[in-house]
Amino acid sequence: MSVTTPQTFKIVARLDGVLVPPSLGLLRPDDLGVLRGDGVFETTLAVNGSPRDLDEHLARMQVSARMMDLALPAPEVWQPAIQAVLAAWTGGPEMVLRLIATRGPEEGGEPTCYVIGSALGESATAGRNGISVLLLDRGFHGVDVAAKPWLLVGAKSLSYAMNMAAGRYARSHGADDVIFIDTDGSVLEGPTSTVVLARGRSLVTPPREGILDGITARRLLRVAEAAGWSTAVQPVTADELHSAEALFLTSSTRILAPIVAIDGTARDNDPAVTAELARLLQVPGA
Ligand code: PLP
Repeated sequence: MSVTTPQTFKIVARLDGVLVPPSLGLLRPDDLGVLRGDGVFETTLAVNGSPRDLDEHLARMQVSARMMDLALPAPEVWQPAIQAVLAAWTGGPEMVLRLIATRGPEEGGEPTCYVIGSALGESATAGRNGISVLLLDRGFHGVDVAAKPWLLVGAKSLSYAMNMAAGRYARSHGADDVIFIDTDGSVLEGPTSTVVLARGRSLVTPPREGILDGITARRLLRVAEAAGWSTAVQPVTADELHSAEALFLTSSTRILAPIVAIDGTARDNDPAVTAELARLLQVPGA
């Protein structure tokens, strides 16, 4: 009898809502998602069976697919698979919900679409208490790459090998995560997250050129504004990261990760700000 642990437990559903054993192949060996990383995905967190910001994720997936000329099934077509995974989940209160669409077989055909539910990694929950980051050169100027649609910057494509490599580089150099820096010295984003900093009662996040339009940061700015904060989308320098009263990476599953060290230099975050923003973002347990 196989034993499942929270970390290995997964639920997988085809687009029509039929559950598939996670160990069973859903992709053909010649699927362009495998051969070329050609496809799109979305990741969000379901808390007590309720996916956060699902409409926004379904909408962004359509935007990514349009950038890649990929004929993606409409948002409502994903519902049977999403609901099947949510219904079958018997893990903890937090489930990572991933929607995947590859371009399909090499000789043409329909995208291969499926949904995975899995446990939230321990590093994600630990990250809500604080992470250390390295500042790494992204090797491009955001405004330049944003004007070149073939570079697919800002699409959530399956080609995330570089993002994963940056995370491994950080971990092999004693840090948890990365903030990418533009060739002009300004702040871009993390490999899987958006940068948000607090100065007084003001929240700032870098402009969207050259980065993914993060749904969590958008939500944070929206709820913070409703709570009386002022917000701005404007260029941020590395120096401003160091001097911020509170500094975060935001993303859909870790949600709000306070940055406690930059390039090995410890920094303090105002605990009242961190607690308020975690409450506003409805971080589980906040
Ligand atoms: N930037 C990149 C490159 C990402 O991959 C992600 C999420 O995975 C984010 C930012 C944060 O976006 P969201 O808050 O929508 O998860």
